[in-house]
Amino acid sequence: MHQKKIGLNTICTHVGEVKDEQFKGAISPLYMSSSYAFEDVEVKRYPRYFNTPNQEALCRKIAALEHTEAGLIFGSGMAAITTSLMAFLRAGDHIVLQQVLYGGTYNLVVEEFEKFGIEYSFTEGWRSEDFEKKIRSNTKVIYIETPSNPLLTITNLDAIAKLAKKYNLVSMIDNTFASPVNQNPIDFGIDVVIHSATKYMGGHSDILAGAVASSEENINRIFGLAKNFGGSLSDYTVWLLERSLKTMGIRVKAQNENAQHMAEYLHENKAVNKVYYPGLENHPDHELAKSQMHGFGGMMSFELHEEYDAAQFQKELQLIKPSMSLAGVESTVLSPTKTSHALLSSEEREKQGILDGLIRFSVGIEDTEDLIADIEQALKKVRLGKEVTTS
Ligand code: PLP
Repeated sequence: MHQKKIGLNTICTHVGEVKDEQFKGAISPLYMSSSYAFEDVEVKRYPRYFNTPNQEALCRKIAALEHTEAGLIFGSGMAAITTSLMAFLRAGDHIVLQQVLYGGTYNLVVEEFEKFGIEYSFTEGWRSEDFEKKIRSNTKVIYIETPSNPLLTITNLDAIAKLAKKYNLVSMIDNTFASPVNQNPIDFGIDVVIHSATKYMGGHSDILAGAVASSEENINRIFGLAKNFGGSLSDYTVWLLERSLKTMGIRVKAQNENAQHMAEYLHENKAVNKVYYPGLENHPDHELAKSQMHGFGGMMSFELHEEYDAAQFQKELQLIKPSMSLAGVESTVLSPTKTSHALLSSEEREKQGILDGLIRFSVGIEDTEDLIADIEQALKKVRLGKEVTTS
């Protein structure tokens, strides 16, 4: 059912629950069974068929959050991405992908697709013209990520959806950085929306999961492969994810507000060379972001001036943790060149504008004055010689 009429926080809290008929408990009971009756039952249930009671309920919540008919949840974001791509591509087909993408998706394409006879092209930029230039007669899928990881570029959802329709292609988006709170691509005509649910959906840095939302027809097609590829999510993690989603709306709203504050602070800070955040008016696509996002998100990247040692800066932080992953309630930083984009060649990284000193900042829900104090104390320790005032 299309669930657009109720508010986001009501969807987060109530849609897609398993009703506790027996004890009338307030939350979904957890069904850990991996074995269900097969005789005299409506549905033959098995966790790898993505149809246990908790899996089915969570899929309804995912669909409602992305304003569409159906959803599917996976054991990781990469399982969701791989299965969705493979559902629409076969040997001899071609896909156009956005140049600046999550490193794992880039690796999947360049390391695996040739083995399956799937051709691919990366765009030179993220405008719809950049995508159109790469379309061939055998192109089947157009794949975008906005805001992108780690440079927070903004791709025009409406233009990409129209382009896909013009050439009869399936449009797919990695919506992880925005979360369903800040962006609902299906409202703009994008066909398939994918999330690393490890990130904002989970929100507490304690689960690994993936999610896909689309029409019933597309999800059935993806399910056709999913049961064979076997990347389903364990019911305990499904249950944790459903619990986490109840607070996603308020968590992400707090992260949006904190990130805006921190981006403005960093932008004014003389130690900082550049801030990449779509909520800043000087972001090249600030207006576009405003027109297609409900909030600018909790992710940003920044570069320190060369007088500061960016690697040491991350080590000196005391509250903000240098760590992998993102989107938890705690603030974290990482170097994309050493982590998410480490497997890209240095030429490829340079081409994409991902420099060694770039710091990706996932803003949590702490008090911003404490985050600022932490950054200030770390900056003081890593100034290389030259005297620079930080604010
Ligand atoms: N997409 C984006 C934007 C990501 O940042 C990540 C992981 O960092 C993924 C997809 C992959 O998700 P997972 O690690 O859950 O497989």
